[in-house]
Amino acid sequence: MSLRLVGNKHSVIGVLDLQGGVHEHLEHLERLGVAYKRVKQADDFTDLAGLIIPGGESSCLSRLLNIFEIKNVLLEAHRRGMKIWGTCAGAILLAMNVVDEAPCLGLINITIERNGFGSQLDSFVSEALIPAVSPESIPLTFIRAPKIIDAGADVNVLLKIDDYIAAAENESILVTVFHPELTGCLALHRYFALKCGLKLADDSRNYIDPLWKISSWTKYAGIA
Ligand code: GLN
Repeated sequence: MSLRLVGNKHSVIGVLDLQGGVHEHLEHLERLGVAYKRVKQADDFTDLAGLIIPGGESSCLSRLLNIFEIKNVLLEAHRRGMKIWGTCAGAILLAMNVVDEAPCLGLINITIERNGFGSQLDSFVSEALIPAVSPESIPLTFIRAPKIIDAGADVNVLLKIDDYIAAAENESILVTVFHPELTGCLALHRYFALKCGLKLADDSRNYIDPLWKISSWTKYAGIA
C-alpha cells in the first residue's frame, strides 16, 4: 500500500517517546506513508501537525512529562494548533477528569476510570464498527484499559460499547482506550492523520494488511 503526503504547513506526526508503546505507533505511521518522528524534548515540538501519546503507564508518563520539562511545551504546541491522539494511558493523560486522581493535561471533557476492566489478566481483543473511521469493523485490543464513563456535550463519541465509551474526540483531541497500533489495521492512524490536516492521496478505507505481524515494530526498537 502506498500513500502520498501532499503537503501541509506542519506535516509531521510525532510520537511522544518517554515510555510505553512508541515503536508500534512509529511502525504504523511508516506504513501509512506520513512523515513522523520521535518526540523527547522541547525542540522536537516545533514542526508537529499532530502528536500521539502512546499507551503505557499514565502515572509514569505524567511524571516524565514533568521531569523532562515538556508538559508546558506540549500544551503550548496544542494551543498553536497541534492535534493530539492519546491511546489508552495517553487517553488518561488527556482527560479533564480521572476517577480518584488529579488530571494531567486536561484537554478533553471526559471522565475516565483507570484499569476499568480489571487487571492485566482481564485484557482482551474484540472488534467493532466505528462508522466515522472505517466502513468495516476494525480489530480492537484492550490492555489493562481505562473506561471512559462520561463525556461532555462538546465531545463527539465515536464508539460506545455497553456502559463505556471506547473512542471519542473534540476538535483537537482524539482518545481511544484500545490500541490500534497493536493490530494490523491503519484505519485509526489514517483518521488521525486526516484530523491533523494531512492529505493522503490513497483513499482506500480500512488498511488491514494481511501480512502484518505483531513483531513488525521490533525493527524500530533496534532489536530485530
Ligand atoms: N493501566 C494503564 C494506566 O492506567 C494504561 C494501560 C495501557 O496504556 N495499556 O496508565
